[in-house]
Formats: sequence, structure tokens, C-alpha cells
Amino acid sequence: MTASQPPEHRPGSEPGRHNLDPHLDRYAARTAGMTASEIRALFAVASRPEVVSLAGGMPNLAALPLDSLSGQMAELIAEEGLVALQYGSAHGVPTLREQICEIMAMEGITGHPDDIVVTVGSQMGLDMVTRLFCDPGDVVLAEGPSYVGALGSFAAYQAQVVHVEMDDNGLVPDTLRAALATAEREGKRVKFLYTIPNFHNPAGVTLAVERRAEILEICAEHDVLVVEDNPYGLLGFDGQTYPALRSMDPDNVVYLGSFSKTFASGLRVGWVLAPHAVREKLVLAAESATLCPPTLNQLVVSRYLATHDWKGQIKTFQENYRERRDAMLSALEQHMPPGCTWTQPDGGFYVWVTVPEGVDTKAMLPRAVTARVAYASGTGFYADGFGSRQMRLSYCYPTPERIREGVRRLAGVLESEMEL
Ligand code: PMP
Repeated sequence: MTASQPPEHRPGSEPGRHNLDPHLDRYAARTAGMTASEIRALFAVASRPEVVSLAGGMPNLAALPLDSLSGQMAELIAEEGLVALQYGSAHGVPTLREQICEIMAMEGITGHPDDIVVTVGSQMGLDMVTRLFCDPGDVVLAEGPSYVGALGSFAAYQAQVVHVEMDDNGLVPDTLRAALATAEREGKRVKFLYTIPNFHNPAGVTLAVERRAEILEICAEHDVLVVEDNPYGLLGFDGQTYPALRSMDPDNVVYLGSFSKTFASGLRVGWVLAPHAVREKLVLAAESATLCPPTLNQLVVSRYLATHDWKGQIKTFQENYRERRDAMLSALEQHMPPGCTWTQPDGGFYVWVTVPEGVDTKAMLPRAVTARVAYASGTGFYADGFGSRQMRLSYCYPTPERIREGVRRLAGVLESEMEL
């Protein structure tokens, strides 16, 4: 387990930066923690057609029924246009909130529609939850590695991230205990545990069912809230689902859900299911951020759920991603040099690779791009600079052929790196 220090709150202190931005002295102290994610910086090069990008996490939307969706959107405007194009409540469209309850029931959650707040993607949920709970210097516990967008939100509110170890079965309860004990010894206030229990981004592992109750108990004992981020939970390759942490301790878990991976990421519709007492504050936070989530997009999702075989569509996504996962794992097996290890995802989008000592995945990246393959280097997934021997490979978007070619190219780059 590793800890990171809060950022220096001197936004204008970087030498030479004034020449680039005359407003540097004006920024709020909290902007010091806001830095461009390595992954976003990669986007431009990685999206060149000759580069096989194993870097991004874009869902493969080619499997969506675009014809019927376009008909449905036209109908929506014709039949409900004056509602769809109007402001709505910060809480979200009521019918959609009821449908969301049915979806969450698939993972054992019995939530009330009133306790759901619809968000502009679950990224907004992460921002709101951090805004509600974290003062500068408060500790957030998060798996190491963790989702880069969550780390961005924590940094934006000057929370201190303390990473907790994972193994092939997800978060390790004993390291959680140790992290809590250390924080308590140091007099730090731990606000919540942020966890991605299913098909982790970026680690590709799933929290073992038998660990779930234990982790909840530890958090309850230490009076620490749990923030459960679960955008991939329905994307298990054998159709398997796991009991949500929220289903096991409704009063101490804030649950974040999203339609980005099971339907359409561009619609930006997600949700937060909060303990009842927190709901009111969440609505106020949502109101001050966006007034209300987009009514049109919520109604598109709601109609889609009511009129399409959305469970069948999820099955199609599962099959698509399973084929791509298989292509990636077999290519890794075939091509990777000795000393490399990787995780074996049963769902979701990502494989987490560890390379031999002496190889720095961040330094290697420009050479990989020259060899026409891109990945996300591991350091972006830690708040404390760890991860230089790790990388995240995504199999969600490229075709199986491109994945195989990408892994072959990557293995070639790694081999020359290891000879240096
Ligand atoms: N949490 C995790 C773990 C994710 O992987 C992502 C998307 N990559 C998000 C949240 C944000 O998703 P959304 O599109 O719903 O904002």
C-alpha cells in the first residue's frame, strides 16, 4: 500500500508557465491538483488509423440497432417533444428512475426511485460525491490501481488518495484494515472507500463474493462510507452477476451506475443511488452543477428500455467483448516476452499487464506509438506515481484481428526494450 501527499496549493508556481497562461495567478488553489490525464493526452495519437489503440475505453457501439433507434428518436420528438426539449427536475425523469430500480434488482439491490439521482454519466456522480464528502486533505481509500476519472475528481477536491492493494480476487481486506489503522494513527480523516468491485477498470479483476461482506464490515466498523462504482457489472462474459455491495449494506453504500457501457456512452446518462439521508444533498449538488440532467437523453434511454430487448442487447455486448477478450488473452500468451504477467478478466474491457523490472511503460510509450500500437501506461491509474511497470490494455474497441496485431507489435517493442 502506498500513500500520496496532498498537492502543493500554488497553482502559479510552475516555472515558465506564466508565459503560456497569463491567468495563472488567478486560479483557485484547488486547480493545482487538476492535471491532464495521460490517457486523454494520448487520444490524438492513438486515434490515428495506422495505430492499433489498446489505450482507450470506448465501448463498441457498432452492435447497436441504429435504424430502430433513429426511428424511436423521431417518434420521441413527435410525441413528447415539448417535454423532451424542456428543463426537468434535478432528480431525474421519474419513469427512468423506476426502470433503473429494475436494472439494479439484477444485482440484488432493492432501491427506491426517490433515492436515485440521475447524473450526466457516472463521472458526474463521482464529482458530486467527492464534492459532498471531501474537504481538502481528507483521505479517500481507493484500490491501487484505480479509475483515472475518479482520481481526477478526488484531486480536483484536494482529497488525499491512499491506495489499497488488490490481488486476483480484488481488494484485499487485510490491506484495507492496515490502511485504516495507519490513517487513524496519523490522525487523518478517511471519508470513503472508493471501489469498483466488478470487472475493474483498469485491473480487470472482480472482488470475490466472500470478501464483500468482510469489506463492508470493516468500513462500518471504522465508520467509513463505501462508494461502489459499477459501470461494468452486467458485462460478465458468462452472463454472471455478483451481489452489489449496496445490496448488502444499503445504509452505508453510495452506488454509482451508468448506461455508458450497456447502452450508449454519448448520451451521458448515469445515476447515483444514495442512502436516503444523503439523497437531498445530492439533488442540491446536482442542481448547482447542471440544473437538471438532459431530459431528451433520459427519455431516449427510458424509451429504449421500454421498447427494445435491452437484455438481449447486453448479451450481444457480452459476446462481442468476450470474443475480443479471448483474442487478447491468446495473443498475449503467444507473443509476450518471458517475465510479463497479466490479469484474466471475466467481463468488462481491460487487461492489466505487469512487465519485467527495468522496463518503464511510460517511457516506452512513444516507441510503442512509433511501432503503431498504443496502451495506457500504469502511472495514470495511481495517485502517487506508482505503476511504471504496469499498463492497461483495452480490448473493447478494436476488432479481434486488430487486437492480435496490436499485441504482436507491443510484444516486439517490449522485447527491444528488454534488450536495452
Ligand atoms: N467509472 C468507471 C470505473 C469507468 O470505467 C467509467 C468510464 N470509463 C466511469 C466511471 C464513467 O462513466 P460514465 O460514462 O458513466 O461517466
